[in-house]
Amino acid sequence: MDCLFCKIIAGEIPSAKVYENEWIYAFRDIAPQAPVHVLIVPKTHICCADGITADNSLYVAKIFEAIPAIAKAEGLANGYRIVNNCGEDGCQTVKHLHFHLMGGQKLTEKMA
Ligand code: 5GP
Ligand code: ZN
Repeated sequence: MDCLFCKIIAGEIPSAKVYENEWIYAFRDIAPQAPVHVLIVPKTHICCADGITADNSLYVAKIFEAIPAIAKAEGLANGYRIVNNCGEDGCQTVKHLHFHLMGGQKLTEKMA
């Protein structure tokens, strides 16, 4: 499958790894929109939030279980934002489910 994030997970495309376990991979966004901007992805191909099911939701749970530790390691003691873009209207550009973890400064109140 021609998926950028599947290739990153497989190590075929280099990335700056932040965290990894059996289910998930976290790496720095190539075009950060905040001082800390990490992408967290499941190690299985799920297209988007619309593709989350009872069969694969463990991966999503593992992402959210890891977020406090990733945020702590990144120094986000003052808070952070988690974003998921889904589909055309959500401006999703990479069609492999991912959550943006952003922080390191006071973020804009505007979200849409
Ligand atoms: P989306 O717009 O789909 O929610 O987010 C995709 C994100 O992937 C963007 O923030 C973009 O900067 C990031 N991105 C795109 N290509 C690469 C890449 O090759 N490496 C890394 N580390 N991030 C990428
Ligand atoms: Zn993929």
